[in-house]
Amino acid sequence: MTDKYAVVGYPIAHSKSPLIHRLFAEQTGQDLSYEAILIDSEERSFASAIIELQQQGYQGVNVTLPYKLDAFEYATIKTARAQSAHAVNTLVFQEAGETVGDNTDGLGLVKDIEQNGQRPFQNQRVLILGAGGAVQGILQPLLERHPASIHIANRTAQRAHVLGQRFNTAIPITASGWEDIPTESGYDIIINGTSASLENKLPPISPKVLKADSLAYDMMYGAQPTIFMEWAKQHQSQSQVMDGLGMLVGQAAEAFSLWRGVQPETAPVIAQVRQIMAG
Ligand code: NDP
Repeated sequence: MTDKYAVVGYPIAHSKSPLIHRLFAEQTGQDLSYEAILIDSEERSFASAIIELQQQGYQGVNVTLPYKLDAFEYATIKTARAQSAHAVNTLVFQEAGETVGDNTDGLGLVKDIEQNGQRPFQNQRVLILGAGGAVQGILQPLLERHPASIHIANRTAQRAHVLGQRFNTAIPITASGWEDIPTESGYDIIINGTSASLENKLPPISPKVLKADSLAYDMMYGAQPTIFMEWAKQHQSQSQVMDGLGMLVGQAAEAFSLWRGVQPETAPVIAQVRQIMAG
């Protein structure tokens, strides 16, 4: 029998996850189905919808907005990554009745930068813009790569300070609002984890954060380069720029690997999805 998986959220029709998982299944020769399922909280709770899917024989689900916290609470076993992110994007239904909750978003981003961007984090100065849910999820996997330092800057500076203080690590983590980002040495890797790009806006930061060979990575993605990627190129024409499509495909690859025990290759799938997006 074909194993069943799904992504759940609200809204969900726009989700690229069914396409990505279909491409992974083709690439690895796995027999599975993967659908997008809407959970409207006015009709049923997240928990009752998930129980129903378990009863229907689904083996696991991905969870997207606005249910990542509900999924965290639903999971009976939470991985260290999920605990650090305080959010779950992947549920694995086990035969014994337990539900494992993991968060693969951060590892998806880290591996995209390392493998597809060819930029190891070790000894790199990293600047992170934003302190919301997505940034919360990337810090633990990023720290495991031993960067030289991390500075978190956010519109609401207090949120960046609180987030930075949560980690017990020898790696220096500093935090500030936009105006107080230290710029003396510039940053090797700059990750935009704000939702400003969605409104076609830039976080108001100095271009001095950029070095000639910086990587400017925007978690947002689209058919065109984002405004943040354009800003980096405008101020440092040699800088490397990437959008978050690789993070999306990367988190899906980690979920696929948890469910199937097979790690798919992300680069060809990123290329295929980008081609489809370009229409
Ligand atoms: P949250 O709502 O949790 O956090 C939003 C963050 O953006 C906060 O730090 C907020 O600052 C900041 N922000 C919002 N509007 C502005 C603005 N106009 N100017 C400057 N800062 C702003 O969102 P998420 O963390 O879930 O998502 C952040 C981004 O990451 C989105 O663009 C999302 O699409 C993307 N993402 C991409 C993924 C992928 O797979 N590629 C996965 C997950 C997210 P403040 O604290 O002051 O409100």
